[in-house]
Amino acid sequence: MDFTLPEEIAAFADAVARFAENEILPTMSAFEESGEFPREIVEKMGAAGFFGAAFPENLGGTDAGFVAVAAISEAISRVAPEFGYCMNMQGMTCPFTIYNWGNADQIARFVPDLIAGKRIGMFALTEPGGGSDAAGSMKTTAVRDGDVYRLNGSKQWITFANAADVGVLFAKTERDSGHRGITAFIVEPKKYDGFAADQIPMTGLSRSLTSNAVFLDDFQVPAANRLGEEGDGFRVAMNALEFGRLTVSARAVGLAQACLDEAVNYSNQRVIRSRPIGEYQMVQHLIADMATDTDAARLMVLRMASLMDTGQPANRAASRAKYFAVEAAKRAAAGAAEIFAGYALADEYPIKKYTAYVNMLAVGEGTANVQRILIGEDALGIKDADRHPVRNRLRGPAVE
Ligand SMILES: Cc1cc2nc3c(=O)[nH]c(=O)nc-3n(C[C@H](O)[C@H](O)[C@H](O)COP(=O)(O)OP(=O)(O)OC[C@H]3O[C@@H](n4cnc5c(N)ncnc54)[C@H](O)[C@@H]3O)c2cc1C
Repeated sequence: MDFTLPEEIAAFADAVARFAENEILPTMSAFEESGEFPREIVEKMGAAGFFGAAFPENLGGTDAGFVAVAAISEAISRVAPEFGYCMNMQGMTCPFTIYNWGNADQIARFVPDLIAGKRIGMFALTEPGGGSDAAGSMKTTAVRDGDVYRLNGSKQWITFANAADVGVLFAKTERDSGHRGITAFIVEPKKYDGFAADQIPMTGLSRSLTSNAVFLDDFQVPAANRLGEEGDGFRVAMNALEFGRLTVSARAVGLAQACLDEAVNYSNQRVIRSRPIGEYQMVQHLIADMATDTDAARLMVLRMASLMDTGQPANRAASRAKYFAVEAAKRAAAGAAEIFAGYALADEYPIKKYTAYVNMLAVGEGTANVQRILIGEDALGIKDADRHPVRNRLRGPAVE
């Protein structure tokens, strides 16, 4: 068993961090001021191979696997957390769901451009009625009308919906059939009328990479864009969230590491009573907890990624890693804020920003309570978290 990253993955993750420092950070203030979506940066990231690790080379991917996905997600999030979203929308939840569930035509039409960063992706599951019970609260309907479906309803918090060219969106084809009435669709918001997105203002998070309220008014989806069969939607969504938890957990590790790095730096520089504060044991206690938490969270994420890389069930490991990594990142953000004291609140330092993104990751792909339910029911023998057949087209058993 190896507890370090393979050399080529570690080198690529370093290159990602350097790209974020040199190409992303210097250009971001202009986008933040205008609120414009940074398409050219996303396309550059795509061209550099940031989004292709979970995809085979014939689709433009790198086939580097899920450990690479985790390492890249961590590296981006550590330096530029606002671009962490891209690992989901361009590299996992949107394109991987199409790859995992789509037919050959759908995969060829949508996946290569998404992972190249040429088309912007989104994943639209949550509705205003509550994200923790996405299936039970779903009101959006899809009604078949000849060669198309007509979608009506609304979605909430949909990241990149205001910029998206392609998305995976869930709606009810049978209103009264609970989970079994949900169907997944590949949608093209710019191609058909009836799709509107309103940015949700959120202090502390990016103004140019945003989440949105979405309104669907007789929005058309060609029947050829249905993902799987009618009624498969819930299985598609749960499978997508399992893989989404990989990027979200790795992004949380990136933020925990960023808080630790900043806190160590500041503790070595800030002098109080003629000594750097890092020499005080109570500060060392905080740093020790942050370092240990970050290390443990990273190992849990790598275990999840390794299970995915060997085609094994990974849902239990994914929930545990997501839960722990976010709690670790929350503790790291709180520890950094304590060490920075008044300066944690100053715009000059990134602690406020890190804290805001940790809070965002806390709800993405399921809140702490949602993970606790899954983990607790599994541990108690009520519901085996890994009971579903593996669906992982990159590394798992063949999918018909
Ligand atoms: C910035 C941002 C970006 C997002 N991007 C996307 C996206 O791109 N696509 C998408 O589909 N969604 C997205 N989401 C939505 C996200 O997945 C949801 O916010 C999340 O699922 C929680 O749903 P909710 O906010 O409606 O909280 P609720 O479901 O209303 O939960 C409120 C509280 O109740 C608790 N709770 C709920 N049920 C139980 C229970 N049974 N037992 C105990 N406690 C419970 C929760 O843990 C939480 O503490 C995003 C959210 C944010 C904030």
